[in-house]
Amino acid sequence: MSQKAELNDVLAYIDRKAEKTVAGLQELCRQPSVSTTHTGIEEMAALVKRRLEETGFQATLHRTPGHPIVTGFLPGKAKKTLLFYNHYDVQPAEPLSEWASPPFEARVVDGAVIARGSTDNKGNIVSRLAAFEAFLAVRGELPCDVKYIIEGEEEVGSPSLESFVLANKPLLAAEGCVWEDNTTREDIPILALGNKGLCYLELACRTANVDFHSSNGQIYENAAWRLVWALSTMKDEKENIKVEGFFDDIRPLSPKEEGLVDKMKPYNFAGRARKFELRGNLLGLSDRELTRRHLTAPSFNIAGFDAGYTGEGVKTIVSGRARAKVDCRLVVDQDPEKILACVRRHLDRRGFTDIEARLLFRSLPAKSDPDAGIVRACEAASRRLYGVDPIINPFGNGSTPTWIVLRHLGIPLASTGVGRITSRTHSANENLKVADLIDGAKWMAAIAEEFASL
Ligand SMILES: [Zn+2]
Repeated sequence: MSQKAELNDVLAYIDRKAEKTVAGLQELCRQPSVSTTHTGIEEMAALVKRRLEETGFQATLHRTPGHPIVTGFLPGKAKKTLLFYNHYDVQPAEPLSEWASPPFEARVVDGAVIARGSTDNKGNIVSRLAAFEAFLAVRGELPCDVKYIIEGEEEVGSPSLESFVLANKPLLAAEGCVWEDNTTREDIPILALGNKGLCYLELACRTANVDFHSSNGQIYENAAWRLVWALSTMKDEKENIKVEGFFDDIRPLSPKEEGLVDKMKPYNFAGRARKFELRGNLLGLSDRELTRRHLTAPSFNIAGFDAGYTGEGVKTIVSGRARAKVDCRLVVDQDPEKILACVRRHLDRRGFTDIEARLLFRSLPAKSDPDAGIVRACEAASRRLYGVDPIINPFGNGSTPTWIVLRHLGIPLASTGVGRITSRTHSANENLKVADLIDGAKWMAAIAEEFASL
C-alpha cells in the first residue's frame, strides 16, 4: 500500500472517531484551569498528563516556581523529532452573564463546542492527540518521534517557560516545532513563523511628594507636563520614532520573506473602519501598505498615562507625580534591554534625567527560516489536504513565547491550529466548531506525515 493511501486510512480513522474526539475536548473544557486565579490548575495538569499517557506518551509533570509544565515523548518510525507546544491554562470566563451556556459545561450548540478554553487552547491539544491516536491505531506507530510541552501559564505571560526550557534543552530537542494557534484558521491554512518582541516600559516622574492646589501652577513644577514633554520628544506627529538607536538592530527582510509578505491577503481597512468606527489609519496607507507595515514595522505606543485628577468633574491640582506605560512591539533583532538603554540615553541627553524608566516585561522577537523543514512540511500537508499552498505570515503578529523555542532551542517552528477569528478567544462564548476540530486533527496528521518523510 502506498503511503498516500495509508494516510487516507489515518484520516478516515479520525473521521470515525469524531464523537470520541469531541467528548475528549469536552472533558478538558469541563475542568476549569484559570491561570490568573490558579483555579483548577493542579487538576488540569494531572488530567493533561493522564491524557498524554492514555495516548501512549511517556509523560512527566514538572514542578516550576509557577504552574506545572507537562512534557511527553513517544518514539515513532523516522528518527527525527517533532515538538508540539500547547498550554492548558485559560483566561477567566467573566463576565459570566454574557455566556449563552455556562463556560465550563462545554455544550455543543449549532455544531460548535461553547466553552472557555475550547479553542484557546484545549481544542489544539485534543486535535493533536486525535491525530496521534489515529496513527497508532492504523499503523501501530507515529511517523516520527513526537515530543510535547504543555505549560500552564501562557495566559499570564509564560513566566516559568524560559527558565524551564533553558534547564531542559536535551529533553525538548527536536528538528521542528508546531506551535499552538487559535485564531488564524480559514479555508486555506495560515501559518505564522515567529513573533513580535515586546518591550513594556514604565516611565515615571515625581516633582513633589504631594499634588498641590493649582493656584500654585505658575510656581511649582508639574510632573504631568514633564512627562508629556519627555514623551513628545520620542515620537513625532508623522509617526517617526525619534529614540536614537531604536532601529539599529532591525534585520532587513530576505527576498523569500518579501515574497511571502506580498502573498498575504491585504487587510480590508474600510471594513474595519466601519466595524470599529475608526477615523482613519495612521499615515493613510493603502490596504497593502497597511499589511506590510503591520507585519514588519515596530511600534512605540503609549498604553496608559496617569497623573493628577482624572475623575468626574473638577478638581484643581498641580500633579506631583505622573506615570506612563509605553509598549514597543519589536521586530527581529531588536532587543528589549537595548531599547530600554536607548530610551534612557534619549531622556538623559535631553535633560530628563529625573524621569525614571523601568522595563516591566520583555519578550524577544524571533522568526523561523521560511525554508525550514517544518515549514516545507506544512506546505506539503496543505497541498495534500486542501490542494493549495498555505498562507504564510513569515513573522507572526503577536508577542507569543515562540521566541523561547526559536532562540534558546534553535528549533524552527510554525504556528497553526484549529481556531478562527470568530472563535471569540478570551471573550464570552468562546467556541470551536466540531468540523474545525476534526479537520484540525487531519491537518496535524498530514503535517507529521510530511515532516517525517522530508
Ligand atoms: Zn489565549
